[in-house]
Amino acid sequence: MNIAGARILLTGGGAGIGRFLVERLIADGAEVAVLELDELKCGALREAFNGQVKAWVCDVSNAQAVDDVLEAIFAAGFEPNALVNNAGLIHSEPLVNVLSKSERVHSRDSWRTVLAANLDSVFFVTSRVVDRMLAKRTKGVVLSISSISAQGNAGQSAYSAAKAGVNALTMTWAKELGAMGIRFAAIAPGFIDTPSTRAALSEAAITRLKQQIPVRRLGDLESVYQAVKYAIENDYINGTVLDVNGGLVI
Ligand code: NAP
Repeated sequence: MNIAGARILLTGGGAGIGRFLVERLIADGAEVAVLELDELKCGALREAFNGQVKAWVCDVSNAQAVDDVLEAIFAAGFEPNALVNNAGLIHSEPLVNVLSKSERVHSRDSWRTVLAANLDSVFFVTSRVVDRMLAKRTKGVVLSISSISAQGNAGQSAYSAAKAGVNALTMTWAKELGAMGIRFAAIAPGFIDTPSTRAALSEAAITRLKQQIPVRRLGDLESVYQAVKYAIENDYINGTVLDVNGGLVI
């Protein structure tokens, strides 16, 4: 599929990786619609791209909100032939915190919230979008931003489980829908230099991390975009998880 002229729906486009992907996809000639939690970020997107980006407020972890917004988007005439499931919530918490004086085990609330933001969201949005593509006999591609944490990252039970689930859904749907002309791929970044990474890690932790990454640096946003572009444009990519991690093994 050519990016120029593609109609791409992207979740979580208001910040970080998603915001950068919107910018590059537009520059390469795609038509882009965004689902984003925050109204202010939706407004900022519309303004930054002079109305070229359609931005819709939606909590993609909420099934009803997803159904409602997608109905409105289709009714408004936007028929996606590509979906990028990017919205996510990075969360670190040990399974058991032996130093805690109160509850020692991983919060059940945060388990649910993290699974909802990273995994339920992919299921809710993809199922509706793919149903629409099939109804419209549209061939297309669905990409999901996974993570190196899907391999199992100490201190990230919920996030690792959610991203491993995203990889499993990608492979399952690739087998289920390939014959109908809809392809699936996951992109699994390592540590990308984003405000969310900088907020989660101290400068000292980033310095230590760089020593463990074979290419000795955090990933850049353009590398993630290049993987997204490749997976959209190469029509024989299906059921694959593309690692973008500088060779880091966790
Ligand atoms: P980010 O800066 O926090 O951006 C995520 C965006 O998604 C934000 O605009 C956020 O909105 C939105 N969002 C979150 N939950 C949402 C929901 N329920 N409904 C709608 N929008 C929602 O994160 P990022 O670092 O760019 O990460 C983007 C994706 O890459 C995530 O899936 C993440 O797991 C994955 N990833 C990131 C890295 C990295 O190094 N940064 C590495 C591997 C994988 P609000 O800000 O308003 O909450």
